[in-house]
Amino acid sequence: MSTPVAASLTFDPRTVTAQSSLRVKQSLFMYCLGQLLVWAYANGVELAGKELLRSPEQAAANSKTGKGIARSLHLVGLAIDVALFTDTTGDNVPDYQTDTRAYQALGEYWEQLHPLCRWGGRFRRADGNHFSVTHGGIQ
Ligand SMILES: [Zn+2]
Repeated sequence: MSTPVAASLTFDPRTVTAQSSLRVKQSLFMYCLGQLLVWAYANGVELAGKELLRSPEQAAANSKTGKGIARSLHLVGLAIDVALFTDTTGDNVPDYQTDTRAYQALGEYWEQLHPLCRWGGRFRRADGNHFSVTHGGIQ
């Protein structure tokens, strides 16, 4: 049994709403991310972290090439891109998946974690490896 770091900390994801502060939503994001990672590994999915925090310069560059938006939630720690690996060739070696459909189950799990959770697979320009907590009308 480990000793809690802060026994008085009482983060409750159920109290987080669209009106909550960015700071509180950042805690919600990490709380949900932890659950997503545990669920993934329990369901035969391996993940690699690709991008969580993004610089304003990178967000602006992505916006110009259509790979992202300038006001990305990656700027404020409310989004992560992950690489998903599953064995699709039957050789017991996880294969990197690039198709949004491969992320569907992960995305649906993410969406049911909290009403503010958004999955990039639903975006007009599908972005299956993107998982975020919406803030200020941005996903
Ligand atoms: Zn992203």
